[in-house]
Amino acid sequence: MLLWEIDRPLVELTAIYGFERAARAYRASLAAVSGLRSLVHDFNIPGRIRAKRSLYLAAESSAAELLDEHRLRSRAGLPGDFLDHGRLLETFGMARVGAIVSPGAADADPLQLAHSLLRLGVARGARLFDAEAVAFDPAGEAVTVGLGNGREVAAKAVVLATGYAMPDIVHSKLQTVSSSWAIATAPQPHNIWKGGVLIWEYAKDYLYARTTPEGRIIIGGEDSENVIEPGARDRLIPQKSRALAERLAALWPFAETEIDYRWAGTFDTTSDGLPLIGPVPGAKRVYAAYGYGGNGITFSYLAAQLIGDLIAGGGSPLLDDFALDRDVGMAGH
Ligand SMILES: Cc1cc2nc3c(=O)[nH]c(=O)nc-3n(C[C@H](O)[C@H](O)[C@H](O)COP(=O)(O)OP(=O)(O)OC[C@H]3O[C@@H](n4cnc5c(N)ncnc54)[C@H](O)[C@@H]3O)c2cc1C
Repeated sequence: MLLWEIDRPLVELTAIYGFERAARAYRASLAAVSGLRSLVHDFNIPGRIRAKRSLYLAAESSAAELLDEHRLRSRAGLPGDFLDHGRLLETFGMARVGAIVSPGAADADPLQLAHSLLRLGVARGARLFDAEAVAFDPAGEAVTVGLGNGREVAAKAVVLATGYAMPDIVHSKLQTVSSSWAIATAPQPHNIWKGGVLIWEYAKDYLYARTTPEGRIIIGGEDSENVIEPGARDRLIPQKSRALAERLAALWPFAETEIDYRWAGTFDTTSDGLPLIGPVPGAKRVYAAYGYGGNGITFSYLAAQLIGDLIAGGGSPLLDDFALDRDVGMAGH
């Protein structure tokens, strides 16, 4: 799911940082999805990226907060329409109290997309090494990265993009690790909701659902901050899969809930829902791209742009907004 809508609603982000700064993050996220689509298009990357609308569903019995969110997004110039219960039911056949439907999202096969981008990088001169980075030394003229196989790589700049496994030189108080579970149903192209819109909910630990080109439904969520250890996380796959199938039946009763694939993964969130992108404090010429939450692919595109520009001598106010040592104040409370 290539959503531009950020895990933290614009209303909440505004309460933390003020309207201008919050709106800037949302607009950058919207532009990132469109930038990624252009990249795939311009380089003819076989990533099967599909333009999609998103449907942000109310999770509670009132749509008042969602309506406030819609109004604030409109003020920020962000696209989208509010649907009350009647219009939501009529248009999408879903029985929630309300939703925001927005253009500008997309979906893609992430593995295919990642492989295609790596191939493109290699064709343009990148070199790939299969090794674990175990030590970083930014003290000299170049940054030296020690590898598990005993070799070293020296570079003018180093960008850390190691997912949830942050090396010791990165310290962030903003990131929390959790686990997430997902299932994919058997193909059922005749049972797909209108337009295969990307579905998620106005809730902290939200349910999300998308479709694949073969007509499978992928639904995920059921996140937990308490079960992190991979063995324990994976042992919960049968139980969490049943819960997700039940939630799919409640969301979209037309779906067949026969499950073809089930899996779990580590996930991370930041206390303000914004990523950690930019210089690593205390480590010259080392940059970080972390903390993506549910917007992993969207924010990774943004990280590539921002860090690339920074290394080339440019800058952006977004680098303050996403700084690893930013002050989030009461965001987590
Ligand atoms: C179940 C689930 C569903 C998700 N759904 C979505 C979604 O729909 N849309 C979305 O945008 N995002 C989604 N995300 C988030 C998204 O997957 C991540 O944000 C994204 O993969 C992060 O990309 P990355 O390249 O930074 O890190 P990763 O994809 O984690 O890649 C990091 C790589 O670095 C390697 N590595 C780690 N340490 C070292 C080291 N020391 N040396 C060398 N290599 C190292 C790792 O092995 C890994 O290959 C989801 C996540 C989960 C778990």
